[in-house]
Amino acid sequence: MKRSVEHYRTRDAAYEWLQKRGVSVEDIAELVMLLQGDYIHDLVMEDCIRSVERVLAKREVQNAILTGIQLDVFAEERKLASPLQEIIEYDEGLYGCDEILSLSITNIYGSIGMTNFGYIDKIKPGILKRLNSKTDGEIHTFLDDIVGAIAAAASSRIAHSRYPVR
Ligand code: MG
Repeated sequence: MKRSVEHYRTRDAAYEWLQKRGVSVEDIAELVMLLQGDYIHDLVMEDCIRSVERVLAKREVQNAILTGIQLDVFAEERKLASPLQEIIEYDEGLYGCDEILSLSITNIYGSIGMTNFGYIDKIKPGILKRLNSKTDGEIHTFLDDIVGAIAAAASSRIAHSRYPVR
């Protein structure tokens, strides 16, 4: 009988891989604060961290993290077949699969996640700037979008939970 991978293994691996690639929950929470801080005046870092953790608890998010980082690492190790190797290595602008994979994360909390994602992808603050710097020889073609998407989803989650229902 086919058995699914136990949930905690996927979750632990996702956390471990993010950490290995230099991304902490706090880094992502800072992006959430940037996205939501202007709208919710009593928002504190603790709320942002908790929201990021709730997004990271979702299996589809963990799967996107594992898939995206694996492709980044393969590109670093030059293990991909041409032309995919060059496309991911040089973060070819028209590739688009990195953004598509990340949509599976932003979609979790509805359309506000997509607008948040587009905004943060444009201004690239904090950890996103570092992931895009390319100075450390690492390839983060997928990871930058994944991190932006987690922040966008965590922001949307807060926006939905705080919006006054009349
Ligand atoms: Mg990208």
